[in-house]
Amino acid sequence: MKTFPHGIHAEGNKSLSANAAVCDLPAPDTVSIPLSQHAGKEALPAVVKGDYVKAGQKIGSADGVISADVFSSVSGEVLAVEKRPTATGHCMHVIIKNDGKYDEVALEPLNNPLPAQIVQRITDCGIVGMGGAGFPTSVKLKPRDKIDTFIINGAECEPYLTCDYRIMLEYTAEFLRGARYMACALGLDKFYIGLEDNKADAAEVIENVAKSENINAETVLCHTKYPQGAEKQLIYAITRRKVRVGKLPASVGVIVDNVHTALSVCRAVEKGEKCYRRILTVSGGGIKNPSNMWVRTGTDVKYILNHCGASDDAAKLIIGGPMMGFAQSSAEISVTKTTSGILLLMPEETEYRPPESCINCAACVKACPMRLMPVYIDSCILSGDVDGAEKYGAMNCIECGCCAFVCPAHRPLVQSMRLAKKKIRARGSRA
Ligand code: SF4
Ligand code: SF4
Repeated sequence: MKTFPHGIHAEGNKSLSANAAVCDLPAPDTVSIPLSQHAGKEALPAVVKGDYVKAGQKIGSADGVISADVFSSVSGEVLAVEKRPTATGHCMHVIIKNDGKYDEVALEPLNNPLPAQIVQRITDCGIVGMGGAGFPTSVKLKPRDKIDTFIINGAECEPYLTCDYRIMLEYTAEFLRGARYMACALGLDKFYIGLEDNKADAAEVIENVAKSENINAETVLCHTKYPQGAEKQLIYAITRRKVRVGKLPASVGVIVDNVHTALSVCRAVEKGEKCYRRILTVSGGGIKNPSNMWVRTGTDVKYILNHCGASDDAAKLIIGGPMMGFAQSSAEISVTKTTSGILLLMPEETEYRPPESCINCAACVKACPMRLMPVYIDSCILSGDVDGAEKYGAMNCIECGCCAFVCPAHRPLVQSMRLAKKKIRARGSRA
């Protein structure tokens, strides 16, 4: 069985949207496009109020190496450039009145591109990791280490989310060609696609299409277990290589990228399409019509909820998956390149119980896929012992939520891990 140590088996709840074919969400009258849609520094505004922009036109310029350009998702007039809330904080937004014409600027298609041309095209189209991390893809494809293995992450282990699954079924040839361009940029002629074994049907489709398109891709079915889609866990399951503490996958010769990222790369290379829309899942018990849909960046979450039918009795709104996503107090935020899901959960799906004292059961230790001792880190950080939290490896936490999921005392362990990391960073590592 291809898998990794520890982890949890959570209810998948994927059947709500798994059979919903990808549809197009009509664009709203106004979009509010965040200039921070990626890891690294926020992009700098490239337009001012009153400008006319086309879809695909640059409205934010990458600020530094770890950053990415941001493009308009509609054509129309810039109404404002101002700070607004995001799913995780605040950043500058470009607000554009959609003129409904969708005039577009795209780059010329590339035929048989060389590796350097592929990487440049990915930069020019502002593509970032669309699984949620948002790391600029072109930077990932220029590693200093020698790479011998390229993996496309199709695990999609977060409950409820099904957009990657639908891409693998409906955009099979495109995402495979995109992955081949990325492998080519890395100097490789073969790549792997890692899936959980609850997606065996997608693996079969991929194998057939890869064969007919003459693409050298190997599907690897891994055990359905959370967090199988975490980078280090997927690498271990497929290659048995361990990425050491504080190191990147490239240190063991591996690069991992997401299914949607590969689809965007294909469109960038073959159509010159900039990254300004994506497929996301809208699901949860509070959604009347769970969907997988193309959504333009800058589209208001409230608009999407209204379109899909939101229950008035819903208890929780989450951007992303229920394990690693971010709970929201307001739906007045915008979709970005990394928004893989919008979940509206009913009270019975989000039962809150107040935290109690730790009973030293060690369930969190047995669940942690990074082999940490969350109970000790929690105790250290609550007593102000930042050194202790660092000693117990808080910086290696991937914030997967397994520990909190299994804790019978309902301790908010992920919050403790985040707090510990923040305090260690603020103080500067002494390790
Ligand atoms: S300590 Fe971090 S890595 Fe370990 S289970 Fe908890 S959230 Fe996941
Ligand atoms: S799972 Fe919860 S109760 Fe058990 S040891 Fe960990 S923190 Fe304590």
